[in-house]
Amino acid sequence: MDTIAHIIKNQREFFKTQQTKTISYRLTFLKSLKQEIENNEQLIFDALKKDFKKSAFESYLSEVGMVLSELNLVIKKLKVWAKPKRVRASLLTFPSKDYIYKEPYGTVLVIAPWNYPFLLAIEPVIMAIAAGNTVVLKPSELTPNTSKILTQIIQNAYPETLVAVIEGGVEMATDLLAQKWDFIFFTGSTKVGKIVAAAAAKHLTPVVLELGGKSPCIIDDTVNLKLVARRLVWGKFFNGGQTCIAADYVIAKSNVKDQLIKALEVEIIKRYGNTPKTSQDFPRIINSKNTKRLIALLKNTNIVFGGVTDKDQCYIAPTIVDQPDLESPLMQEEIFGPVLPILSYSKTEDIEHLIWSLEKPLALYVFSNNSSFVKQTINKFSFGGGIVNDLLIHFGNHRLPFGGVGASGMGNYHGKHGYDAFSHSKSIMKRGNWIDPSLRYPPYTGKLSLLKKAFKYFG
Ligand code: NAD
Repeated sequence: MDTIAHIIKNQREFFKTQQTKTISYRLTFLKSLKQEIENNEQLIFDALKKDFKKSAFESYLSEVGMVLSELNLVIKKLKVWAKPKRVRASLLTFPSKDYIYKEPYGTVLVIAPWNYPFLLAIEPVIMAIAAGNTVVLKPSELTPNTSKILTQIIQNAYPETLVAVIEGGVEMATDLLAQKWDFIFFTGSTKVGKIVAAAAAKHLTPVVLELGGKSPCIIDDTVNLKLVARRLVWGKFFNGGQTCIAADYVIAKSNVKDQLIKALEVEIIKRYGNTPKTSQDFPRIINSKNTKRLIALLKNTNIVFGGVTDKDQCYIAPTIVDQPDLESPLMQEEIFGPVLPILSYSKTEDIEHLIWSLEKPLALYVFSNNSSFVKQTINKFSFGGGIVNDLLIHFGNHRLPFGGVGASGMGNYHGKHGYDAFSHSKSIMKRGNWIDPSLRYPPYTGKLSLLKKAFKYFG
């Protein structure tokens, strides 16, 4: 606790020196972070492989490559983003020049999960630094090798007064949350998100919560099932199914459900072979606790494909479950693993019944060539974000804000949205002195009708 208090105190003192407000200062450190990441690329791959057998390809695509492209964007755009933005003035306050200034919050806390342990720890740090904050990062305790290289990279790139990494588990996170922060950025489960929100509320600290949930994938009968199966197998089993925006379950039109299952089986074998356990491209479950949790979810279900498990090796084969009971744990909790339940619908009310019975999801996917069905689906349901005819890749466009709604989170980030998330928007009006209409000053007698006219015409 003393160490934490000491780090925060030093960061607060450093923040007051105003150095982090200089754009050139921020850029220097963003560039040195980029250099460190490039120098350590192989060590990051090795760490991710050791932590959960993630392939170098998936590690680059979903961790290192994403981080480097976000860094390139920030380095290119920071000056523009940081400039006070002039907005149109109101005639009611004439004469004035009006601006929005972006102001760093101060000393911020970032708590990261294990499933994309490099990306989801470092991307918020990049945005926090870009916006001029100082940061304390707590990476996940479940990916010790990645956390170690992450710590090394950050220590090489930043002084501790600017970014400090504090490793540890729940106890450490609890101690960190007991402190007063200027902003908290949390990525993890909805359950822990509530704990973070409660801790933040004590000090009225603003938060962004990037949480999870059961993201549906709706498939109608107007689609090319082979293409759907290809994209669905990729999006579901990428990272071993341990993706916050993976399709949690499929709800397919009843007349194509059986054909879809067949197409998925063919596709799984094509991508991972007959024994996915030996595939170099199929990751492991993060630990034995989660492996046992997934094995328990499979109990008393109708497994039509896969189902092979090895708890000692933290292995769960890509698995398809046909028509699970809606009340079963498999359909009540976020799966977060390579298990895909397939349900069917015959009318749109069946889809509504299912989606509205669950919390608002982080993502929703709809595969259809029927534009009115797509439009209705997008408008009807509340969810963080989604894709028509694919999975996951909306995460990759920095122009799209990424975040949940309701139980799947609050706030968003990526690209400029991330910079904004870590900044307070400070409104500044610069008043002219050359004229000062007397309307607003007392005595008010006889001025009300003029005031009403002013609101009507200039408000
Ligand atoms: P988690 O909530 O268990 O842990 C996340 C972080 O919180 C870790 O650093 C952990 O040490 C800390 N933590 C755990 N228990 C805590 C407690 N009681 N008090 C304070 N801190 C605590 O989540 P996880 O298992 O690491 O990640 C999986 C979850 O994260 C899934 O629900 C997934 O959907 C979600 N997720 C969301 C996003 C997103 O961007 N929205 C991204 C990845 C993962």
